[in-house]
Amino acid sequence: MMRVVSPRGGWIEVVCGSMFSGKSEELMRRLRRAQIARQQIAVFKPLLDNRYHATDVVSHDGTRIEARPVDTSAEILRMVGDAQVVGIDEAQFFDAGVVDVAVRLADEGRRVVVAALDMDFKNEPFGPVPHLLAVAEFVDKLQAICQVCAGPATRTQRLIGGRPASPDEPVIRLGAKESYEPRCRECHELPNSRPTLDLAESAIEGALTDRASSSARNTAVPTF
Ligand SMILES: [Zn+2]
Repeated sequence: MMRVVSPRGGWIEVVCGSMFSGKSEELMRRLRRAQIARQQIAVFKPLLDNRYHATDVVSHDGTRIEARPVDTSAEILRMVGDAQVVGIDEAQFFDAGVVDVAVRLADEGRRVVVAALDMDFKNEPFGPVPHLLAVAEFVDKLQAICQVCAGPATRTQRLIGGRPASPDEPVIRLGAKESYEPRCRECHELPNSRPTLDLAESAIEGALTDRASSSARNTAVPTF
């Protein structure tokens, strides 16, 4: 795909996908290229996300780039300085104001690169991310590998004690004994979540029967 950016600068790009889809790595790759081009960068992440390190954006493969943890999206505006390229990692954990912050930075002529989970473990759009996707010039959805069938994964499976977490669980539960793994639409499990409409249910059952009889379905999956 051709991507044409304004020579006067100022746009928003969002890299989204499930957990383990390489979002932070892609964010860092873009920021590193900006650094090589001698552009001034500033990177922010929500204070909430302290899984690995307090001040770095750290991806699951261990590579890192300096990031500043901030409590609110408004702090990004206060701390951004003269940076031409602004990275925002784990944007799903920011308050709704992060959308206006990204728009304002882009309006000022800066390049804004956002990495975010597009959906939570219930497959629902995550926090401010749907709005970020809407206002962005460029959107990339990355896929992970489904840990059940090895197909392309677009969802995040939350496991508590090795079993699929109930949709009644809170979306953010830091410090709990839980784990996450990428899964595809078919393999993602949400216990006790069934469609309430009879029509929808019979349609889904019909579709499942059709799919179960089609052994060649995985070969029809497009690869990127
Ligand atoms: Zn799968």
